[in-house]
Amino acid sequence: MDDCFVVWDDCLEKIREKVGESSFKTWFSPIRPKGFGDDSIILEVPNNFFHEWINEHFLSLVKDIVLKVCNKTNVEFVVTERGEKKKRGKVLNIRNDNFFKNSSFVKNNFQDEDNISGLNPKYNFGNFIEGDCNQLAKSSAESVGMNPLNNPFNPLMIYGDVGLGKTHLLHAIGNKIIENDMSKRVVCIQSTVFVDQFINSIRSNNSQEFSSFYSHVDALLLDDVQFLKDKEKTQEILFYVFNQLHQLGKEIVLTSDRPPTELVGLQDRLVSRFKWGLTVNLTVPDLETKIAILKSKASNNVNISDSVIEYIAQRVNSNVRELEGVMITAVAKTSSEHNLDIETLQNIINNISSNDIEIDRISYCVSDYFKISIDDIFGQSRQKDIATARKVAMYFAKKYTKCSLKTIGSLIGGRDHSTVVHAVNNIETLVKTEKGMKKLIDNINKEVKKRLQMKM
Ligand code: ADP
Ligand code: MG
Repeated sequence: MDDCFVVWDDCLEKIREKVGESSFKTWFSPIRPKGFGDDSIILEVPNNFFHEWINEHFLSLVKDIVLKVCNKTNVEFVVTERGEKKKRGKVLNIRNDNFFKNSSFVKNNFQDEDNISGLNPKYNFGNFIEGDCNQLAKSSAESVGMNPLNNPFNPLMIYGDVGLGKTHLLHAIGNKIIENDMSKRVVCIQSTVFVDQFINSIRSNNSQEFSSFYSHVDALLLDDVQFLKDKEKTQEILFYVFNQLHQLGKEIVLTSDRPPTELVGLQDRLVSRFKWGLTVNLTVPDLETKIAILKSKASNNVNISDSVIEYIAQRVNSNVRELEGVMITAVAKTSSEHNLDIETLQNIINNISSNDIEIDRISYCVSDYFKISIDDIFGQSRQKDIATARKVAMYFAKKYTKCSLKTIGSLIGGRDHSTVVHAVNNIETLVKTEKGMKKLIDNINKEVKKRLQMKM
């Protein structure tokens, strides 16, 4: 067997070409190869932050390269120090559930039959920091988590801008329900996946099974319902499921990036149902809450000084995801460069919180518009509509940020500089030659401008 160091060195060379020097230094230099699994290479990363960041931003790139270099299809990460072992949360296991055990819908739609609840164990109420910005949302979510049956907050609708903790709360509710009663059927699902499942079920003449499955859950946790926009048939079936569950006192929790009244492209009768229970809002945390969030994230993983935390909290004013982004890079730099001076910190904030974040904002806008998940835009799929959306995101990133083409490529889909040039040229030509494309770009342009100005 090849020595894992030799193999990983080979991979590193190729990764360096793709991601550029600064990302490479921050994210890849600290990784150590540990060996091989049956179909994987095992890599050691310094902490959980690192692990999550790499998973989110570079996993498909790393997988592609590993596959090419040593023919392994998987990449496994282990966390070095103070490592919390990867916990598997309590999950709905259909093997213990006769109704679901026999459902062909489950077999066709859930890859992991041992975990159809789709809950991420890392999101719980214990690690959700409370402040004025989220107090009502958190307490009502906790109430639902403790008493999901016949709860007066049904549905609970949580709305707020990107990165403010909607998904965190949604999963925390599900985890709490299952913690109290393992037999509860909790299903937590992204609206885009919900739509895909419904389309598949129609294709295989099985829509009955789809509605039957969802009408038999104890709690339906549906993330980002704005993505149901214009999906008439899915909305109809959701309306039916909603009524079934509501009548039985089963809980429904929804999240959205806007208040129900602004959910365009959703049927009135559905939106009016969404307003039956309680609607709560998440807003941007104040300074003290930001500091508390950063401290809680830091305490699990690394030593980072209070002054660094305060510095970050004072200067990042948008949302918690951005706070985390800056913090993660600061942590990575601390482990590679020990002392973090203010200049380095300010650079991180400038880079992450302006460039990366602007690119994030643009990509979210484009993903909304094309109704394609953000993971697809950042991912590697070559499917036509996804590839077009990605090109559009690159086009706007070039138009509105100061990032180099190389950075844009590495942030959007791990592509190289020439792919970005090609994408931007392609969109510019289409704008000139196709009316439809011009209109589309004009519309997205308005949205992008709005989001970029929204410094909050
Ligand atoms: P949204 O779904 O609103 O876009 P997420 O729930 O994905 O946002 O949150 C983004 C990140 O910020 C997650 O890692 C989440 O754990 C973290 N986060 C958000 N709000 C809080 C909070 N109040 N306390 C701790 N972490 C938070
Ligand atoms: Mg979310």
